[in-house]
Parts: sequence; C-alpha cells; structure tokens
Amino acid sequence: MTARILVVDDIPANVKLLEVRLLAEYFEVLTASNGADAIEICEAGKIDVVLLDIMMPGMDGFEVCRRLKLDPATAHIPVVMVTALDQVADRIRGLEAGADDFLTKPVNDLQLMTRVKSLVRLKTLTDELRLRASTTRNIGIEEMLSRKQADADQPKILLVDEKPVSVERLTNMLGSAFAIDAVADPHKGFFDAAEGDYDCVVVATGFRDFDPLRLCSQLRSLDRTRFLPIVLIANEGEEDRILRGLELGINDYLVRPIEQQELTARLKTQARRKRYNDQLRASVTETMEMAVIDGLTGLHNRRYLDSHLQTLFDRSVARRRPLSVMMTDIDHFKAVNDKWGHDGGDRVLREFAGRLRKNVRGIDLACRYGGEEFAVVMPDTEAHIAEKVAERIRAEIASAPFVVAGDGTAIEVTVSVGVSSLKPYGDGVEALMKRADVALYEAKSGGRNRVVAKAA
Ligand code: GH3
Ligand code: MG
Ligand code: MG
Repeated sequence: MTARILVVDDIPANVKLLEVRLLAEYFEVLTASNGADAIEICEAGKIDVVLLDIMMPGMDGFEVCRRLKLDPATAHIPVVMVTALDQVADRIRGLEAGADDFLTKPVNDLQLMTRVKSLVRLKTLTDELRLRASTTRNIGIEEMLSRKQADADQPKILLVDEKPVSVERLTNMLGSAFAIDAVADPHKGFFDAAEGDYDCVVVATGFRDFDPLRLCSQLRSLDRTRFLPIVLIANEGEEDRILRGLELGINDYLVRPIEQQELTARLKTQARRKRYNDQLRASVTETMEMAVIDGLTGLHNRRYLDSHLQTLFDRSVARRRPLSVMMTDIDHFKAVNDKWGHDGGDRVLREFAGRLRKNVRGIDLACRYGGEEFAVVMPDTEAHIAEKVAERIRAEIASAPFVVAGDGTAIEVTVSVGVSSLKPYGDGVEALMKRADVALYEAKSGGRNRVVAKAA
C-alpha cells in the first residue's frame, strides 16, 4: 500500500521522527511546520492522511482540522490528531473539530502503522466512490459521501467478550453512538457475525479457554464475513498477539485501559469503511449487470449473448449434445409505435419479454437481440423440440391481446419465428445464427405469425 502522508508539526525533530518511520514503510511523506502551509498542501490535492500536531504557534491543530473539514475540497481527507498522553480534553476538542483518529505521543510504531494503513484504506474507498459518483449519476453514492448520511443510523457492533464487567463498561462507553449486541461465547459470536448485518466486530482478549485470534481467522476465511471489520481489544503486554492479529487481517486494535473517545473514533472509521465498501461492491455489481441486461425488458442483451453463445456452442459440440436457436421478430411493430406511441410500443416489448421468459426453461438463454427482435438459445434441445417451443410461444403471443395504454386498451400482436439447430459436423456459431435468420425471413415472407424451422 502506498499513499501520501502529510506530517504537520512545528518542531522539526518531531516531523523527522514520523517521516523516517513512514518512509521506511514506503509511504510518500510531505511535511509542514505550520497550519497555513498544511491547509495549502491539502488544497493542492492528493494527500491521503494528515498527521496533525495540536500545539503549534499561530493556528493550532484544532483550527487546522476544523478548516480542513469545513472545506468540501479537503473534508474527505482523514485527519489524525497527535495528542499528548492523557489529554482527554484535547481528544474531545479534536473530535469536535472533526478529527478521524488520535495518536498519543510518544507515537508507538505499531499504532502509527495500523492507523495510517486503516485510514489510507478508507481514503482509497472514498476516492473510488467519489470518482464513481462523478462519472455515473449514482444517488446512493452521493448520499453515502455526505458524512451525515453515512453516520445517520447507528452503526451495528457485535461485541464478543466473555467478561461481564468488561461488556458492561464497553456498552456504557459506546451505547449512545452505536447499536451493540454482546455475546460471551466466541462460537456463538462467529455464528452471529455471519448471520447478522454488523458494521464491525469487536473481539476482546481474555477468554478462559479460547484463542481470540481463532475467531478472527475464522471470520476472515468465511465469505460472508471476509469484509467485516474486526477490532481487537487487548491487554498491555499482548503485543505479539496484536501483531499476529494484524497479520491475520484484523483492522485495528486498542490496548486496555480503553479510552472512550478513541474507541468511538476507531469504530466509526471502521463502520464507515464497511459501508463504503458495501456501497462500492453493490455499485460494481450494478454496473456489471447494467452492461449485460436490457434495461427495458430485464432480459439479457445482445452483448451478453455474443459473449456466451460461443461457450454454449463449444460445450454442445464437445459433449455431442443438441443445441437450437430461435430468432423472433414482432410483426408490424412499427405500426404499433405509429398508432400507440413509443410508450405503447415499450409496453408491448415488456409484455412480450415476459411471455417469452415464461415459455422457456431456466437453462435457456433468452435475450433482446435488438429493437423488437428476441433470441433464445436452447442447450440440449433437438430441432423438433425447439420447433414445438417456438410454436408454443407463437401461439402464446397471438392468443391474448397486449395492453398498450394506461386505460387498458389492448391490441392483437403476432410474432414470426425462425428456428435452427446445430449440425452434427462442420457447423459454426455464425452459420447457426444465419440459418435462424433465414428461417425468420421465410416466416415473414410466408405471411407472418408463423414458425419456420431450418432442419439441420
Ligand atoms: P415486420 O413485420 O416486417 O417485422 O415489421 P416491423 O414493423 O415490425 O419491422 P421494422 O423492423 O421495420 O420495425 C421495427 C420497429 O421497432 C421500428 C422501431 O422504431 C421499433 N423499435 C425498435 N426498438 C424499439 C424500442 O425500444 N421501443 C419501441 N417502442 N419501439 C422500438
Ligand atoms: Mg425488425
Ligand atoms: Mg418486426
């Protein structure tokens, strides 16, 4: 993972210290020694995380943070406040200023890297979503990106913790900002995490006879929970366990004693990341579907047919199984449009697609070939069976009128169908489709509302 980190501190030695450690992890590092420079660098763009000192002459860290979060151009950049130990009041002010996370001086290496990496991942997702929101008009994403919306309903947290006292303390800390379910049994915790729709799982170490990392690794290996953020709560002296947890893919950790602001900030970051992630995946799926689904009828489109027909064809040839293709074209459809308008025509197309789908099997591939032409590819189907299916569809179209207007007016619609089937030797996809097309043409010239089959 590479990213650009801006380190802001008025004391050069502090800047150097963080810079050296970040460079060692191959981050790109920019530095600033005062608030005004920091804001200018952020406005110039391409900063992924800001590490911000609080005590600086002139503009202090709180003010820098507030200004960054108020400006839409920089509001999405994660800000980590670097606070002195035990300055709880500073943390509260930091949160109010919009800080995303805290680090305490002297900064521990493991904490520095875990937090920076976690925020960089979040930033990467946000950037991707912003890009999508600007290229496609995706209302869901735009809502997600306005932070208020993303945080609107309480994130759901699953707390897996065996100790009642600890559960009570954590629940009290988080209760107002999160919806929390606590479970003592780690096996049940695993089950609940897989079944529920949690935004984050918090696993507390300290089970009498269970290794909490086992739960973390189980959660990482199950498909349903692979992307569910995990935050480990460990005791001082459990550094090795934390390191192994990070290797297993936990997303963040805290060491007891737990501090309310810190825990809240970290869980919010994880929950937000989870939601961005989900949104992104949904939008990818949608984009992929849009590319192969015809928007009007919900059937697959020509692009999908073109990319799958060869596979279906090759499979049939290899297994010496039959394969048939049906091409349909609605009769005098232009007249429907002319008389009932484009909307009337669209109604007919949708209804036609529905009847077509109802009359083919699940393994048949029905698609809108273009305009008022539809194609059906029927694996494992002999010519004489395909002809019967085609005839059934023709009759189904002709038998009941199609509604063309909002007032229920219905008209008669007919369809012409051409059928072709795979030849035992020397056939090809194009030849097969061509024969279906020729058959369809013959059906048209023969008077329409009929099926013509080209025997193999
Ligand atoms: P034939 O019996 O010979 O097939 O006559 P036809 O009128 O159906 O044939 P033609 O191919 O000339 O006309 C097809 C019409 O389909 C023309 C086009 O405007 C219309 N069409 C194509 N796509 C759509 C669509 O998505 N919606 C609507 N409403 N009409 C469409
Ligand atoms: Mg046509
Ligand atoms: Mg037509």
